[in-house]
Amino acid sequence: MPFTALGITPPLNRALTALGYVTPTPVQTAAIPVALRGRDIWAQAATGSGKTAAFALSILQHGAEKLRSTRRVTAALVLAPTRELAAQIADAFRLYGEQLASPPKVITAAGGVSINPQMMSLRGGADVVVATPGRLLDLIDQNALHLDAVETLVLDEADKLFALGFADELGRILALLPAKRQNLLFSATFPPEVTTLA
Ligand code: AMP
Repeated sequence: MPFTALGITPPLNRALTALGYVTPTPVQTAAIPVALRGRDIWAQAATGSGKTAAFALSILQHGAEKLRSTRRVTAALVLAPTRELAAQIADAFRLYGEQLASPPKVITAAGGVSINPQMMSLRGGADVVVATPGRLLDLIDQNALHLDAVETLVLDEADKLFALGFADELGRILALLPAKRQNLLFSATFPPEVTTLA
């Protein structure tokens, strides 16, 4: 079954074909149609399962269908446990969105590098912010971004977020998000903290 049969539009499908993605992986087949309908997802997905496209494609497609205002706000927030994973996810969003008429503005907000360039790049908002929890909260404390217009929240490798001790940060972030939003949760395992969160 091709990606278009899951509801993916031609510009996204062209980018996927260029990347050699011909057939969706099982997690993509299961998640994409549900995510495109705006529903929440709770998926068990290991590293290498294709989970990035499983959440990124619907976010890109919803973003592309919207009329853009000049002052963009953060429309989608992806939380990842490590800065390496955050960078990888941001790169994937850019690649998948390459053929869209208006390619998305994707910002990585992760620690280990100076906060100032991230603050600058967040001026005017972003379509997608891919963040680690600690740096995201630093940026919020510095008034560099607000979460009140986030439409979709992705928690990637949710089990690892807890294993690395981000429970308090997650709680603070969730409290800043609009109550009405789409939630896409991906985790390799489902320990009690993740199940409670879900
Ligand atoms: P991920 O689990 O999202 O990190 O993806 C694991 C690897 O599989 C990455 O190198 C992706 O580029 C690749 N990949 C994801 N989905 C597909 C697909 N449908 N067809 C071929 N490769 C894919």
